[in-house]
Amino acid sequence: MPLVNMTEMLIKAREGKYAVGAFNILDYNSMRVVVETAQELQSPVIVQTSEKTIRFWGLKPIVSWIKELTDNTTVPVAIHLDHCKDLSFIQNCIDAGWTSVMIDASSKPFEENIKLSQQVVKMAKLHEISVEAELGEIGGIEDDISINEESAHLAGVEQAKIFLDKVKVECFAPAIGTSHGIYKGEPNIAFDRLNEISQLSDTPLALHGGTGLSAEVFKKCISLGCSKINISTQLKYAFIDGFLHYYQSKPTEYNPLTILQAQYIALKQAVYENIILFGSNQKA
Ligand SMILES: [Zn+2]
Repeated sequence: MPLVNMTEMLIKAREGKYAVGAFNILDYNSMRVVVETAQELQSPVIVQTSEKTIRFWGLKPIVSWIKELTDNTTVPVAIHLDHCKDLSFIQNCIDAGWTSVMIDASSKPFEENIKLSQQVVKMAKLHEISVEAELGEIGGIEDDISINEESAHLAGVEQAKIFLDKVKVECFAPAIGTSHGIYKGEPNIAFDRLNEISQLSDTPLALHGGTGLSAEVFKKCISLGCSKINISTQLKYAFIDGFLHYYQSKPTEYNPLTILQAQYIALKQAVYENIILFGSNQKA
């Protein structure tokens, strides 16, 4: 099935009260895990790419992998650019074949965030690309983006209302107290704020910083309108631990393909469990 944008899968998810996993891939093997697991579970899925990963591999290899992997799939797969502040980079992804992009101008003043996000919506509309935008600032570290605790702040309800009126995005990421990376202690999620923002419109919401949240928190966020859940850090750990554990158990073997297979299995477990948890299995 050809690649799709996120629009329809997220509308259906919000209506059906489940969420679509957006899994950050690192290479061909991890992308293969995401697509094949979604196919096995009959789930829509978002293959998410950070700017850093794209800069590492280049645009063309990533697009050719995803096209090859989705050639024989029957489930909807979107390829999405995660947090990006750089409009020309976003344009390059759109031109190369990405079906969805995120503009993250959340560190800019409110009016400028609106302006930049509107500009990306305009760029994307020409190609039927879906757009995600962020309001407030999500804390923690993800690739090259680092927001310390003092700068991280929740999205305001009034601002969210203005933002959603002025910027017609397919997915909205309000900061609600989750953060990127590994949580130190219990995350303090502002469910009331999420609830108020969710009531403003039917726009599907994105939950960032999914790694380390409990099943209970996921369920509550989904019931409050989160239809896209980002999983990145957990896959980074599975990627490295899958490799390491195999090597440590057989340090003299030196068989690279078996190590890649061990990595595949570790990643698959993480993706599989999350799809089930988010309830998107059998929703393709
Ligand atoms: Zn994020």
